[in-house]
Amino acid sequence: MNFYKAEYIWIDGTKPTAKLRSKTKIIPKGEKPMIWGFDGSSTNQAPGSNSDCVLKPAFICPDPLRGGDNKLVLCEVLLTDMTPHPTNTRAACVDTAKKYAAHDMWFGIEQEYTFFEGSKPLGWPDNGFPGPQGPYYCGVGADEVFGREIVEAHTDACLTAGLLIAGTNGEVMPGQWEFQIGPNGPVECSDHMWTARWLLYRIAEDFGVNATLDPKPVRGDWNGAGAHTNFSTKEMRASYAPCVAAAEALGKKAALHIENYGAGIEARLTGAHETASYKKFTYGVSDRGASVRIPWQVARDKKGYIEDRRPNANMDPYVVTRLITDTVCSAAGAGKASSNGASKAKLPARPKAKAKAAAKR
Ligand code: ADP
Ligand code: MN
Ligand code: MN
Ligand code: MN
Repeated sequence: MNFYKAEYIWIDGTKPTAKLRSKTKIIPKGEKPMIWGFDGSSTNQAPGSNSDCVLKPAFICPDPLRGGDNKLVLCEVLLTDMTPHPTNTRAACVDTAKKYAAHDMWFGIEQEYTFFEGSKPLGWPDNGFPGPQGPYYCGVGADEVFGREIVEAHTDACLTAGLLIAGTNGEVMPGQWEFQIGPNGPVECSDHMWTARWLLYRIAEDFGVNATLDPKPVRGDWNGAGAHTNFSTKEMRASYAPCVAAAEALGKKAALHIENYGAGIEARLTGAHETASYKKFTYGVSDRGASVRIPWQVARDKKGYIEDRRPNANMDPYVVTRLITDTVCSAAGAGKASSNGASKAKLPARPKAKAKAAAKR
């Protein structure tokens, strides 16, 4: 074949939570994915009378599903004058990451999600409810685990694509799962997260299952779905005081962060089910009932990272990583890294992904 398939992926304008869209472009081998267009009037991004929007490739990786030379092309959406579309949250994230590059922010995001088959979570009985929460988190066995074959296919696909997936686990509510991306920079972590989300939807589709990031997929005594956001500056990776200062800085802008951490956050951050109330900011060592947790190893080692537990599963990582970078780094001193905070820690290396035959499903 003298052509390859490039799957152009973008974030649409659906409110209150944007959706992913994608379409396929056939490109001659040897040519790179270039700017393309789409009908913004069908994605809540433009009026029908002036419908053209622009797709600008932002992050390209091997397509683990199609294999061969095929590519996934995550795009930014632009207006036809080549400025960022109002729904484009990546452009501002790039600007903020550049502004505070001296702090070398790393992010590790824990993406929780729920599989649905029809109108109920995967594995739930047709009538009524499964047994109460308790045995499902990190469980094993057909009575506790639903959808593992999809999770395995998704993990393999992320690895083949070269995404920095860090792990997976079964969650507290049956049918609910988690994968983690990171640690890497704000833009890189977010690019990998959006691509991994697309792969999750796409792979679950082949199993006749819908993966949802709904932050409270089942009302009542069932855990919601979050996207705990772990982060560190290079100063935090070197000493403890900057870790505490970062938690304090987040507390000073708590309302701004809550407003931007995903639609429906009030229904999830109730104060029950391992959450803190969205009305009150708290932080503490090992405290999974706090807004922000300082992991025990970090308190012991007197350096490391902290976990913002507030973001919803349906949050936009470009928005969340931008806000945290801005809040934490501006409090630490605009664009300046403290001279005693130089860290020797390096980002973990991952061999560059090669395109290979389509991942086994
Ligand atoms: P939890 O105990 O909250 O379930 P996880 O193991 O699911 O924690 O996720 C922890 C995340 O923190 C991982 O994504 C990991 O990559 C990330 N992480 C580890 N060290 C750092 C660091 N120094 N800076 C930012 N993120 C980090
Ligand atoms: Mn986790
Ligand atoms: Mn979790
Ligand atoms: Mn966590």
